[in-house]
Amino acid sequence: MPVPFSGGCSCGAIRYTCTEEPFVSYLCHCTECQKRTGSAFGISVLVPPKSFRLDKGTPKTRERIADSGNVITFHFCGDCGTNVFADNSARAHAMGLFGGTLDDPDWLPIQANIWTDSALGWVQMDETVERFAKVPDFSKYFAGR
Ligand SMILES: [Zn+2]
Ligand SMILES: [Zn+2]
Repeated sequence: MPVPFSGGCSCGAIRYTCTEEPFVSYLCHCTECQKRTGSAFGISVLVPPKSFRLDKGTPKTRERIADSGNVITFHFCGDCGTNVFADNSARAHAMGLFGGTLDDPDWLPIQANIWTDSALGWVQMDETVERFAKVPDFSKYFAGR
């Protein structure tokens, strides 16, 4: 994988660099990701917070209480509205970049489909990739890091 890698929002006001390989990248088919993206699913890329550097701009934030009770803080561009990354109150050792904001998202290895219970009927999922009806136990992806 190409590290460091960089990304940013649609208008360029927010730019970031990440210096380590992601723990895991996955597609999330939850209804929140559908609303948040205005699309069929979200692409989440979990990385160590210490590997993340904000190079430009100051994102706005929005908090949401997840079904788990955890507080998700979304960081988005106040100019163009792109969701760039998120923190989860239950997960201090990882933060989530939103895959479409990478300058080159094509190399991301998608390792899971989650919240498939609410996936849109026409979405085609890779048969070789793990599926979870709701949220998986992510601890195996963090092991050894
Ligand atoms: Zn922007
Ligand atoms: Zn989601």
